[in-house]
Amino acid sequence: MDIFSKIAAGEIPSYKCAENDEFYAFLDINPLVKGHTLVIPRREVDYIFDMEDDEIARFQQFAKKVAVAVKAACPCVKVAEVVLGLEVPHAHIHLIPMQSEADVDFRKEKLKLTEEEFKAIADKIYSEFKK
Ligand code: AMP
Repeated sequence: MDIFSKIAAGEIPSYKCAENDEFYAFLDINPLVKGHTLVIPRREVDYIFDMEDDEIARFQQFAKKVAVAVKAACPCVKVAEVVLGLEVPHAHIHLIPMQSEADVDFRKEKLKLTEEEFKAIADKIYSEFKK
């Protein structure tokens, strides 16, 4: 199993933001901003555009619900959706609450948050998602 499959299965800890039978969302451990969230399918698939049309449609619908929760929990101008996938070979969508374009610069230094800060943000997103 790859690292993100293990996270979705609960074998590796993560800061859970949302889940259903098919998809899982958790905080990026090296966030660009507070509330930087990753959304993944539980199924092991590396390249997002290898997903079947119906699966990718459900993935986007789930990511949209998570983005609404992220925006409610982390006030921002918009939530950016970014797909890179060069580091971890398991399809994932980055959701990044942004105040400006500078918040989506992956070359900038990542935030260092405490465990308590991560947990508080994830819990806030999770409770918005459950509303
Ligand atoms: P990329 O594959 O280029 O989209 O980058 C992978 C992203 O996953 C990076 O932003 C990492 O910080 C993040 N990441 C890698 N391992 C973990 C982990 N165990 N928990 C949370 N985020 C992770």
